[in-house]
Amino acid sequence: MVRAIDKLRPATVAGGPMLKQAVVLLWAIGRAQRGADRVLTWERTHAELVPLLTAHHRSGERPGGRPDYPIAALCRGDLWTLDTSTPVPAAHGDARLHRWFDEQQPAGGLPEPVYELLRSSGLARVQIVTAIIDKFFGDFDYSAVAKAVGLGSDSIADDDPALSDEDPRDDDPKRAYQDLIEVVMKREPSTRGKRRPGVTNDPIRLAAARRSVIFRSGGLCENPACGKPAPDHTDRGHPVLEVDHVSDIATGGRDHPVQMIALCPDCHAVKTRGRSRHQLRERLLAAARDRHEAWTGTVELNAG
Ligand SMILES: [Zn+2]
Repeated sequence: MVRAIDKLRPATVAGGPMLKQAVVLLWAIGRAQRGADRVLTWERTHAELVPLLTAHHRSGERPGGRPDYPIAALCRGDLWTLDTSTPVPAAHGDARLHRWFDEQQPAGGLPEPVYELLRSSGLARVQIVTAIIDKFFGDFDYSAVAKAVGLGSDSIADDDPALSDEDPRDDDPKRAYQDLIEVVMKREPSTRGKRRPGVTNDPIRLAAARRSVIFRSGGLCENPACGKPAPDHTDRGHPVLEVDHVSDIATGGRDHPVQMIALCPDCHAVKTRGRSRHQLRERLLAAARDRHEAWTGTVELNAG
């Protein structure tokens, strides 16, 4: 699917690609995450998308929230299916396309395998949303759209345990960790090269980073002096551990799992308010780095 997104050829306006196709995809991904119906009537598709497309666009993009044009483009890119016997007309002339959708009123949605993947896998979700952001948004702040479609919280990177029985990552959690780190790295604001001025608090990046640390913890407190199991699990089956930035981002800490750690509630309280918090922070910084290196294979390389 990442390749299908890369193949899309959105029209560009001053400032970058038009956002319409991206807004439609993000809306559908938000629905998949919530387990909402994959296929909607054209009437409901229209009613849900018009306000989103009206609110979220580039300044040079022709205003107007009609979803027929982006949905026709996604259809041609195999990223949307429409329940209709006549093919979507080629995109020359908005009026003809508009008439076709009015006449056909086609129900539609994401292709079923795509929907199922996006429903069950947090990793797939953050990978695909990252591809959409790279392709369409660039430095344009996507966080308002993400929030509007329900993709603005940490849960975007969570799996649905009820649906992921045969998750191959059960056998290879290190691989899952590395895939999540890849998303984190892609979204890392660079201090050297390209800046992302609009994106101050990147929800995708933070969700992927937090999820990777939970993976790495294996459900146990990562304080080496503790190692206690999480006291409970969330409704989605994830261990209740605090994922913490060992050094505050405000004081130069890095928003990256190499400087993040999963702590049980006791250790988190000590780290936040305890008299020994300064010594603990040093130990946790070392522990996070060691664990990150072990999980990404750096230690094996050095040991050889
Ligand atoms: Zn602990």
